[in-house]
Amino acid sequence: MNKPMSYDDAIEAVLARMEGPVPYDEFIARVLELRPSQAKNPTQTIKSKVRFGWHDRMLVVDNEVIPTHMVLAGVRFALRVSPKEAEAGALLCSMQFREYMKGVVSPEDVRFEDAEGKPLSVELLAWTHSEKTIFGVDTFTETALGLSDWFRANRIQPDDFVLVTVIDWNRGHYRLDHETARRRRKRRSEIMDRNQALADAIFQLLEASHEGRLFGYEVFLPAVALLPDPQGYPGDPWNVVVQADPRMVTDGIWINYSAAPSSLQRVLIQRGDIVTRKRTPKRVSRHEAQRVYRFRVSLEHNKSFWREIEIPGGYTLSQFDDTLRDVFLYEADDHLSSFTQRVSRGRGKLPLMVELAVINPFDEGEAEDTQVAALELVPGDRLVYVYDFGDWIEHRIELKQIAEPEAEVEYPRLVAQNRPRYKYCKACAAEGRKVVATYGCETCSEGRHPVYICDDHAMELHEDHWTYDILY
Ligand SMILES: [Zn+2]
Ligand SMILES: [Zn+2]
Repeated sequence: MNKPMSYDDAIEAVLARMEGPVPYDEFIARVLELRPSQAKNPTQTIKSKVRFGWHDRMLVVDNEVIPTHMVLAGVRFALRVSPKEAEAGALLCSMQFREYMKGVVSPEDVRFEDAEGKPLSVELLAWTHSEKTIFGVDTFTETALGLSDWFRANRIQPDDFVLVTVIDWNRGHYRLDHETARRRRKRRSEIMDRNQALADAIFQLLEASHEGRLFGYEVFLPAVALLPDPQGYPGDPWNVVVQADPRMVTDGIWINYSAAPSSLQRVLIQRGDIVTRKRTPKRVSRHEAQRVYRFRVSLEHNKSFWREIEIPGGYTLSQFDDTLRDVFLYEADDHLSSFTQRVSRGRGKLPLMVELAVINPFDEGEAEDTQVAALELVPGDRLVYVYDFGDWIEHRIELKQIAEPEAEVEYPRLVAQNRPRYKYCKACAAEGRKVVATYGCETCSEGRHPVYICDDHAMELHEDHWTYDILY
């Protein structure tokens, strides 16, 4: 009896036979035909198989499955020739190259042909190099594809390029064209256009992502599929393109937003315009520094506690922090705090959280110099303020309005607060009086019912106790 086919083999077999996009349901039916399932919900079984581990084999776009060999067929990429490659007449099987290689294709399977379609002989080379690390000297081995005849015939120099065209992704067949450094320089405007198209495609995927960040190797294929002309003249690798784009940053693995887009940038992005600068702190004019920002600040875990305050736009985040510590009765010179901007990315997506400043009351940091007006906030914008990273007291801040200062008013000021629900002194109550409590006593409550006390009784009866201010 034949061993039953695995799901992975069935998916692979269906993908290999596909010659055009196929509706997702049809794709699943084909897989189940090869690999019948006893599962309760076989469609779900296949879908969850596909969700993990197949991102480099196929794309699902608009409920259609497109196998990778179709996305990459005829797509070209440019490899810059290093001095070592030029000298040895070989191409390194680099990370960039491997993105265009099917995972199961090993370097010995790779076949090249020249511009006329003539097969080239390839010799597998193992290149070792040593690197000094903190643990000593580590030796690495990399695979290179020796093409010494072709390199010699084309007189390939360091910094020249090899343009590689994907002929058959499933089998690892590629065509090679030699592009001198000079010729490639002349095509600079084509490269720039291509880079811009790739950056726009990746940014579109970033905007559409739930998390607000992308895994580079997973985004490579869908980004190629979004290009207006995937087979056009190749630009730079995606990580170079992303790093040069003002909207994004990458460490080569993850792709993130470069920073909170300012309000102006957000409008430009929504309109589809290209934002051409990284965020630099805006300079605040005298007038902007005088304008008054009204913020509503509420405790995240208990929104019935809130304060509305007004501060001048010229206030630094450090001064904003002072004001908050003051109105919420926090310690002025103890505990760290932080401001984070919460940038909404649309329904059903996680907001982008951008740290603005961490304030250390023991030490002045440069982030604290940022002025409120420089953040370019508009009413409705939200910040998160955390006081004390140990207790993590989180506050939601919303900008209510920006207005001209009123005459004879001193800022900052507290303009509104929640209606208080007073607690009364226990000791006074025992004496038949009703006095609003100002402290809670941790020592007397012994972790059970809170004990509330007034100013006088705090001095008299709880002087050596551990007490805290009550916020109303
Ligand atoms: Zn009392
Ligand atoms: Zn006490």
